[in-house]
Amino acid sequence: MAEGATGQRVLILGGGAGGLELASQLAGDGRVAVTLVDREMSHLWKPRLHEFAAGTVSSTLAEISFYMLARMRGFHFEQGEVRAIDRAGGRVELGPMRDDEGRELAPARFLAYDLCVVALGGVTPDFGTEGVAENAVRLDGPEDAEAFRTRFAGAMIRARATGVPAEIVIVGSGATGTELAAHLRNSESGFEARGGGARQGKLLGITILEAAPEIMPGIDPELRRKLVERLKAIDVKTVTDAKIAAVEPDAVRSVSGERWPADVSVWAAGLVGHPVLRRLADFELDDKGRIRVDRTLRSTVDERIYVMGDAASLVPKGAEAPLPPTAQAAAQEAAYLSETIPFLLAGQPVEPFVYRNRGRLVSVGRAGTVGRVRPGVGDDFLIHGQFATAAYNALQRHHQWKVLGRLRGTVAIFADMLSPAKGPALKLHG
Ligand SMILES: Cc1cc2nc3c(=O)[nH]c(=O)nc-3n(C[C@H](O)[C@H](O)[C@H](O)COP(=O)(O)OP(=O)(O)OC[C@H]3O[C@@H](n4cnc5c(N)ncnc54)[C@H](O)[C@@H]3O)c2cc1C
Repeated sequence: MAEGATGQRVLILGGGAGGLELASQLAGDGRVAVTLVDREMSHLWKPRLHEFAAGTVSSTLAEISFYMLARMRGFHFEQGEVRAIDRAGGRVELGPMRDDEGRELAPARFLAYDLCVVALGGVTPDFGTEGVAENAVRLDGPEDAEAFRTRFAGAMIRARATGVPAEIVIVGSGATGTELAAHLRNSESGFEARGGGARQGKLLGITILEAAPEIMPGIDPELRRKLVERLKAIDVKTVTDAKIAAVEPDAVRSVSGERWPADVSVWAAGLVGHPVLRRLADFELDDKGRIRVDRTLRSTVDERIYVMGDAASLVPKGAEAPLPPTAQAAAQEAAYLSETIPFLLAGQPVEPFVYRNRGRLVSVGRAGTVGRVRPGVGDDFLIHGQFATAAYNALQRHHQWKVLGRLRGTVAIFADMLSPAKGPALKLHG
């Protein structure tokens, strides 16, 4: 592992929305030696996964090499699958790396740490529902996005050739499902015949199925009303009270016997901690398999292990439930840990993490953007139009600046703005 000026070694497991921001900020400080571990060789910012899946995005930050970022930002990158943490020995075990034919590229290794941060993210659970693993696509990582893209393109080519619309059925009306639906509607136009005119000779039917009585459970009612309006405007069908019994090869079936034919089924119902978290060590987990932490993000069982992002179960002061799994929370936790870790390594006390809910924003492409934001403590108001669009872009801009630095981040942002698919038809932050 990299040796820094102080010799204090910080090992960050997972280079996603939270882990990579932490590595970039902490290494830039120069006070500690930072090693980032990820099983992938490049970083993909998860909130854009659905755009990648729909096949329309080509972003500077859509995929960016960890090896290159490490050189740029001054941390060490170690590619490999995290297997376990040896808490007593203060080291992490990585499995061997193999190529597609199973030949070993790098042996199993151990990496030592003085402080370890777990940022391994989460996955979409199937709740034991029949046929999900075999027949549905889940958007948990780049390989899922790739699988969806291949199936979606195939269905669209068939629809174009036969004149029978492709049917995409999305189970779950949370951020992932709703954003994917809106973006698919955008990508449909790419398959339309020249001169065919928008929505002439429909090529794509999109249905969102939600088990709860309303879509986006937990969202502000006024935002929901506007969201439903927008989904209708882009011809996305929503069905509530749809409790799913099974995903079949060509349909989704509910407990009450309804059946929705599907060329591609997407399972986007909730998020739990990554299964590897259960195997890592004897951590205390919550009912969603996330590691319980105290208000400094320290794991409840080990003072040298911290947890952040979707992997962490953090109940803020005065709250009853843990923070929701969002990039917004992961980014704030990364900023917090980048400030506290040097103090922790020096054995000094730190203030607890305070989450600031910046609100939710829904951007509906050409039709505008609406949202509820909280710019200051206690404030909470609805915004729309240009202001909302600018605010909506802020989360990703923030990520690009933190990861790439101000200059390169700005260049990446301009590249994104010039890209033919510069944003989804509908986007939610929260
Ligand atoms: C389609 C979609 C849209 C979203 N939109 C928004 C949004 O608009 N706003 C918002 O705030 N949030 C959004 N989210 C949620 C947000 O993406 C997550 O909350 C955020 O990515 C969590 O960050 P993280 O660092 O905890 O984990 P992740 O970003 O998931 O990163 C985990 C990393 O760990 C690595 N990893 C996993 N297992 C191993 C292993 N065993 N060994 C080595 N490496 C491993 C992975 O490769 C990955 O790089 C969206 C999510 C999706 C799927």
